[in-house]
Amino acid sequence: MSFQHLKFCHRITEQLPADTQLENHCRSVEHAVFSWVSPTPTSNPSLININEDLAKTIGFSEADCASSLFTDIMTGNAIITPMKPYALCYGGHQFGGWAGQLGDGRAINLVDVETSELGYLTLQLKGAGKTPYSRRGDGLAVLRSSIREYLCSEAMFNLGIATTRALSLSLTGDQVVRDKMYDGNAELEPCAVVCRVSSSFLRFGSIQLPASRGDEALVKQLVEFSIIHDYPKLKPENNQFDIETYLNWFKAVCDQTSTMIVDWMRVGFVHGVMNTDNMSLIGETIDYGPYGWVDDFDLGWTPNTTDEGQKRYRFGGQFQVSQWNLFQLANAIFPLIGEAEPLQSIMSDYALQYENKWQKMMASKLGFKDYQGVSDQTLFKDLQTLLSTVETDMTIFYRLLATYQAKNEALTHFADCYYRADQLTQAYQLQLTNWLKRYQTRLNFDGLSALQRENNMNSVNPKYVLRNYLTQQAIDLAEQGDYSEIEKLKIILKKPYDQQPEYETCAQKRPDWARNKIGCSMLSCSS
Ligand code: AMP
Ligand code: MG
Repeated sequence: MSFQHLKFCHRITEQLPADTQLENHCRSVEHAVFSWVSPTPTSNPSLININEDLAKTIGFSEADCASSLFTDIMTGNAIITPMKPYALCYGGHQFGGWAGQLGDGRAINLVDVETSELGYLTLQLKGAGKTPYSRRGDGLAVLRSSIREYLCSEAMFNLGIATTRALSLSLTGDQVVRDKMYDGNAELEPCAVVCRVSSSFLRFGSIQLPASRGDEALVKQLVEFSIIHDYPKLKPENNQFDIETYLNWFKAVCDQTSTMIVDWMRVGFVHGVMNTDNMSLIGETIDYGPYGWVDDFDLGWTPNTTDEGQKRYRFGGQFQVSQWNLFQLANAIFPLIGEAEPLQSIMSDYALQYENKWQKMMASKLGFKDYQGVSDQTLFKDLQTLLSTVETDMTIFYRLLATYQAKNEALTHFADCYYRADQLTQAYQLQLTNWLKRYQTRLNFDGLSALQRENNMNSVNPKYVLRNYLTQQAIDLAEQGDYSEIEKLKIILKKPYDQQPEYETCAQKRPDWARNKIGCSMLSCSS
């Protein structure tokens, strides 16, 4: 077994400058995009779960995945030819302030694989030990956060949302001390490694760091690398990159980013730490930390306890933050452009573009053929108010809306999506029935059959999302050595839009015990 049937290659390490120092100690790394580094061997590696579909797409056979060499590679215990592991150097704005150099503090990239279906993919181990970018960290990841990343990235993928993927989840056999809620209750926790996969792990912060150091040559090299590999259609035929090419690249990054945020809003996903080091240059959802899924619709909700006061990364603020982050990226590439106006103009377009995509998305959620203008906009805004008036489960509401008919008694029809019966006052009922009347009139305008509308709506409004409490239950069991719930959730979330009667309980609203439970409604960055 050697995996030599895979087409391995090295895009970053062959085309971008390496850190000239080889020692693995924390330092400032300048004029380089990455540092060579080896994963730290672990005491007793074992595979907990594997993403069979992705493994197959990459080219791993079933026998490959069953081999001990595969487990060793997936945990950083074996490096086969021609793998040459490295960690990326990048910076970032964290919670609005410039944090300087950050980098892959516990992520180690193994190699690229050329696939027929998905093009080039980089295999990356998260939690594989210290790198020159580990700062005060230990380079490790605990089981609970690794399960969260493993399940959620694939859930997002199956919802049709741009994301990094996850190939495998393994235990290392080691343990590490973590203070889960930063409250002085430190405990030993099992360590794990997720093998993440993406066509690009470059972030906004990858460009920002050399820009902050005045290293214009490296900014240029990185932007051109991203054009060639991430946005090949933008590559000039004669390889003569000019200002227009750079601007088109920035536009494309904006375009990918707005699509991603609209998708998050569609399904009720809150990233939780939208720092610029966690923003991918290809607009993929990346770095699953204290993320959360909206249960009761609340635009002000943030799952991240570190963000509790400011709520910078709240559900309803994700567009504004993405815009702020793109401004930082625009600043970073300014030296390549030389004037502010074209960048400002792209940023103004970004707001318009987002608005247009959001309107189309909302129209599809409501089962309309298309967005029809300002009266639809009012209907959407009033729906948001309605959903926020009483605690309403967002996911269940939209599935029930798909089967709502004028003849139905409204409160009875929507009964399953409410969290608090005491909130269902006369005033609320009136608000609901008034909105539904206007909705019905709008549906009549389109004239779709009830079945057609239901099918359309159910293809954009998921029945199953990775509810926070479901993940937490899988984590609680896994910490006792039972990994069955991880497999079950993985299977359910492969078909998030389908009725799966055998898994109906996983589509129900959050049980009351989970309302304020750690891991179910709030998380810290500790991972
Ligand atoms: P995050 O907010 O999780 O994206 O992390 C911000 C930065 O901290 C990134 O550069 C990470 O690589 C680094 N980091 C997070 N956790 C650890 C850890 N346990 N050891 C080393 N570096 C870490
Ligand atoms: Mg990060």
